[in-house]
Amino acid sequence: MKSLDPIDKQMTAEMTCKCSRCKFSLNYTTPSLSLLCACEDCRQALEWGFEQGGIAPTNLPQLFYIRSDISTIDGLEFMQPFQLRDNAKSTRVYCTKCFSILGVDHPGYRDNVFMFFKGFCCTNFDLSIKPSAVIYLKDCLRGKNYTIPDNIEKIWSFTSEERIRFYSIPEVSNSLTDVTTPAKGMTFREIIQKLPEIKVLNLAPN
Ligand SMILES: [Zn+2]
Ligand SMILES: [Zn+2]
Repeated sequence: MKSLDPIDKQMTAEMTCKCSRCKFSLNYTTPSLSLLCACEDCRQALEWGFEQGGIAPTNLPQLFYIRSDISTIDGLEFMQPFQLRDNAKSTRVYCTKCFSILGVDHPGYRDNVFMFFKGFCCTNFDLSIKPSAVIYLKDCLRGKNYTIPDNIEKIWSFTSEERIRFYSIPEVSNSLTDVTTPAKGMTFREIIQKLPEIKVLNLAPN
């Protein structure tokens, strides 16, 4: 299995929220996967953050997945994990002051990577990796404008057939996989466990 990019000693990869109260330093400097996502959950999570004073949502957010290996944390007291609904799988950590989304955990990330949204937190590292696929096209809303790049894998939903097609993308299978090299620092999932209890928003699906 291809290993993810190792530590670049020249640079500290940092993620911060917009108000700079929350900061992670990462032990890896390059995301291993990017996707575009049309799903209802991403849309609702971004809209909800915007309603709380966060950044305005985009129709087709770009997601990045980076090794879940965090060396330093600032502003833990301003971080709060949220889920959209009782049966939710994704846990999103927001800054409670600026409502940036710092990161997202999902069982499918296997604690190997965590996800963040381009433009909904600030980063100082290379985000030039191209999206490998656009996912959950079934959730696209009529009347909204979606700019979908040519020559990109299009995943309508996650039926078993489409799931196989999705996991056949090397960047996907190399990222959404079990940990092979243990994190030197804390994983994003371990940070969530240190935070106050997850708040469930109970938003109705729309
Ligand atoms: Zn903030
Ligand atoms: Zn999504």
